[in-house]
Amino acid sequence: MKHLPIVLWLCVAVCSAYPLNGAARKEDSRMELLQQYLENYYNLGKDVTQFFKRKDSSLVVKKIQEMQKFLGLEVTGKLNSDTLEMIHKPRCGVPDVGQFSTFPDMPKWRKNHLTYRIVSYTQDLPRDEVDFAIEKALKVWEEVTPLTFSRIHEGEADIMISFVFREHGDFIPFDGPGSVLAHAYAPGPGINGDAHFDDDELWTRDTTGTNLFLVAAHELGHSLGLFHSANTEALMYPVYNSFTDLTRFRLSQDDVDGIQSLYGPPPPSAGDHVVPTESGTPAACDPALSFDAVSTLRGEILFFKDRSDWKL
Ligand SMILES: [Zn+2]
Ligand SMILES: [Zn+2]
Repeated sequence: MKHLPIVLWLCVAVCSAYPLNGAARKEDSRMELLQQYLENYYNLGKDVTQFFKRKDSSLVVKKIQEMQKFLGLEVTGKLNSDTLEMIHKPRCGVPDVGQFSTFPDMPKWRKNHLTYRIVSYTQDLPRDEVDFAIEKALKVWEEVTPLTFSRIHEGEADIMISFVFREHGDFIPFDGPGSVLAHAYAPGPGINGDAHFDDDELWTRDTTGTNLFLVAAHELGHSLGLFHSANTEALMYPVYNSFTDLTRFRLSQDDVDGIQSLYGPPPPSAGDHVVPTESGTPAACDPALSFDAVSTLRGEILFFKDRSDWKL
């Protein structure tokens, strides 16, 4: 149960998001929003909240700077318009900072073949659309690692996927439409590895609502052991806002480096695309082959084009 602290820590982070008893009544509403954001995603503790109340801003400024740096904003330490705009964007419910990455043994699966199960569905999409989106999201990671996935329909899978509303049994309630779209747990037994999607979002296969494939690919990155990246090009960036041409979607090198640091690259023998040449060139070792496989995915997500403000 060595991963239990992760869950508990998440719980603490979320529970602390509830407004303190009358504490912020006289605060500017934007500062309340900022405070909640820093509590949720930047591990702002109650001790620091006291500084908020006393308007002793040194620690708060430091936290704002940390947030701005992580999210790729200009680091001013002030709640400027760019920062405020970022705070309002829907995003992933997993924090941007935390203890995960400081664990000496970063949680990862100790096996390469994993099972997943779709426990409940959204009614926003036909079931086969949900199945397809999850399959494709797993494929993104499968292409660049030795990991393989198989689906089961009953019993306990490594990765249990569900669409849920509000409080859903893990003490990290969802928040209705917008803001937090989904969250997922790092690898391990029980709830660890599981991915939860807020069914108060409108899940779609295109960009008219919240695109399921893109959110799922990000969340499943958590399920495999990746945390958030400060690289704005990365799938694991917590807020989608930089995809100007999603027809070119693929994992960033940062994502690939991250997942391969846990599991290594795919084995040379993996994949049906190995085509021995007359000269005997070992085509299977060409890392570009992975991108070829991913590129087929690009064609399937043409509908992402023009979406300029994606987040999870
Ligand atoms: Zn996330
Ligand atoms: Zn949950």
